[in-house]
Amino acid sequence: MKILIINAGSSSLKYQMIDMQDESIICKGLVERIGIEGGKLTHQYGGGKKYTLESPMKDHTVAMKAVLEALLHPEHGVIKSIDEIGAVGHRVLHGGEKLTKSVVIDQYVMDVIEENIPLGPLHNPANLMGIKACREVMPETPMVAVFDTAFHQTMPPKAYLYGIPLKYYKNLGIRRYGFHGTSHRYIAGVITQKPGLEKSRVVICHLGNGSSLSACVDGKCVDTSMGLTPLEGVLMGTRSGSLDPAVVQFISERENMTATEVVNMLNKQSGLLALSERSSDMRDVYVGAEEGDEKCKVTLDVWAYGVKKYVGAYAAAMGGLDAIVFTAGIGENDYRSRASVCEGLEFLGVEIDQDKNKTLRGAEGLISKDTSKVQVWVIPTNEELAIARDTLSLTQK
Ligand code: ADP
Repeated sequence: MKILIINAGSSSLKYQMIDMQDESIICKGLVERIGIEGGKLTHQYGGGKKYTLESPMKDHTVAMKAVLEALLHPEHGVIKSIDEIGAVGHRVLHGGEKLTKSVVIDQYVMDVIEENIPLGPLHNPANLMGIKACREVMPETPMVAVFDTAFHQTMPPKAYLYGIPLKYYKNLGIRRYGFHGTSHRYIAGVITQKPGLEKSRVVICHLGNGSSLSACVDGKCVDTSMGLTPLEGVLMGTRSGSLDPAVVQFISERENMTATEVVNMLNKQSGLLALSERSSDMRDVYVGAEEGDEKCKVTLDVWAYGVKKYVGAYAAAMGGLDAIVFTAGIGENDYRSRASVCEGLEFLGVEIDQDKNKTLRGAEGLISKDTSKVQVWVIPTNEELAIARDTLSLTQK
């Protein structure tokens, strides 16, 4: 069966088609600038070939039509008929407390995604537009929603409740939800298949432009670093991560900014970018540090110190630690970041093999010493495959 994965943003739509027989990628692409001038589709197929189309993309339905045309294109296409697409899997940000695992999309599911718009104001409306557009252009094809929040729904109240009046949880749904759940779940699935780790206490470090950590016991999430929104947790590319909430009022009063403006600043102009005053990209921060830029050096220290504190906290929360996994852009590719997070964790039984760590990039492998009590793994994440697998298992008759 061929499965189409859709990740709809407010002005973009990413897609990927996977052949579930061997889980290979048939094609992938991106529609950009939906609803604004300069609409463009980029379609990659046939192992490195590329086709682009510049055309106005009035809305998500027009974008979905363009995707289907690319898929069916006599020259650049990958299928002969829409019927070849067995099902569509949609990435959806927020399922709230009602949608706690992947589900076949029906009216109820769409209503709940809509109900959760206040919790995911940027993503849920876009995800819904993607679903509606798909329904319009391929009404017969079954669709599945896979939620970024779902994996973290196994957290106990002690991990998800904030210490504020309960009415805010009950009436407004304010609690820790966590994000990157599809990635954390995929990694939890891989790590619990390793010999000796079927029953285990694992910290998963998803370190990319957006970063989050999760604590997983026997493959189930018991805590995670992102909260009500993806702003909480460790320092990220442009997000501050956790800070004293009073900072919002403090800046707002002194700089004459609204709370919304301050939170925007914390989301978009903070993190690596703000501290390095150079870039939100980890690679650039390393270049700066190598050139002797003190701000970049401090940025790297703040980043690693923050991630390390979460690893320690989660080891304490789980009563011990059997494995650490690094994944996503920084976690998969950057040995220096992995080394700096693990440095000083010897007291927990973490011993990195520096050679193995240094040579491993973008591939799966064990980077701890044979004598290390805690196994340290690098495992590339694959959210699209996780979505495709869910879509297959929920729609296969
Ligand atoms: P997103 O959260 O947007 O999916 P990614 O998971 O792609 O982000 O991660 C992007 C981050 O990964 C960037 O900060 C980038 O600098 C970092 N990164 C990618 N490759 C490397 C590398 N070789 N060394 C250091 N950082 C890297």
